[in-house]
Amino acid sequence: MQVIQRAGLIGQPLAHSWSPAMQNAAFVAAGISAQYTLWETEPAHLAVRIASLRAPDVLGANVTIPYKAAVVPLLDAITTGARETGGAVNTIAREETASGIRLIGHNTDVPALQRVLREQQAWSSGSGEKRLLVLGAGGAARAAISVALREGADPWIAARNPTVGQSVLATVQQHRMPDSAQRHNNVIDLLDTEALGVALAKTQVLVNATPIGTRDPTAAPIPLALLGQLPQGAVVCDMVYNPPETALVRAARAYGLRACGGMLMLLYQGAEAFSLWTGRPAPLAAMRAALERQAQAAATGDDIRKRRDSDTTD
Ligand code: NAP
Repeated sequence: MQVIQRAGLIGQPLAHSWSPAMQNAAFVAAGISAQYTLWETEPAHLAVRIASLRAPDVLGANVTIPYKAAVVPLLDAITTGARETGGAVNTIAREETASGIRLIGHNTDVPALQRVLREQQAWSSGSGEKRLLVLGAGGAARAAISVALREGADPWIAARNPTVGQSVLATVQQHRMPDSAQRHNNVIDLLDTEALGVALAKTQVLVNATPIGTRDPTAAPIPLALLGQLPQGAVVCDMVYNPPETALVRAARAYGLRACGGMLMLLYQGAEAFSLWTGRPAPLAAMRAALERQAQAAATGDDIRKRRDSDTTD
């Protein structure tokens, strides 16, 4: 009998994730007999959930809010890339060794965002300072700061709680910059529009790493008129992927700036995870097509209807 291998997403809440559609399309396209499901997990059950990944039929897992840091002590090791973010893990892969199974924590958001920004030629266009300003101070913001440091850019953070922003910035910087004199304390209060305007005037890459805009095409993390402060050639990248074109992305394009929504980053982080689990290149075209179908369903409300129907039939 053929074994159906398993992978899944660990977090809470998970109902709106597009990862099952994307990863299941990838397994089909690659001819791998596997199923990706949502592993909604209560905090009290996290340790048991992680231990269950050692089973022989498991390929691996993704991790999302609120467990990207909480899973670290439950794993055997994390990669340098995950360590650089100050310990934010979004993918777990199994390694079979002579002494048993090892669970390794990775961060695939970092290479995914790096790839998106390079494709946008974000670093080659600016004439002034090489600066990335990230909005938000959670796990995804850590990935953005890590990308800035990898690219030799100056990381700035705008958070509604500047103390948290400061701590996140310091944590990520210390892994790349052991000499504290090199580190910068570039933190802004997200609600301080004046300070934001001044910082944006010298920003080459603006990244939204808050959830603001999710399923609300009118909501934006900053007043949209502030985008007019960005220099020509700046790039705006929203990590929010539903809707694919958020108010922030739409406004940036209206200002003549290059802008991208979060779907491409979702695709690339998923592709990296797929390769870590299977040892194969990811079937990007099939994964992209699955995400586009999800986007269409979301635009027409079909995703909500289907979920409601399955909620009542389960
Ligand atoms: P997280 O750890 O929960 O962090 C969210 C951050 O946004 C926190 O700093 C939070 O501030 C801030 N925030 C939340 N609501 C806010 C509001 N109304 N006003 C101001 N700040 C607010 O989440 P995450 O993992 O970093 O993810 C952030 C977003 O990026 C999510 O929408 C996620 O889906 C998206 N994401 C997308 C990709 C992709 O591949 N496209 C990858 C990773 C993440 P407090 O700490 O004060 O609550």
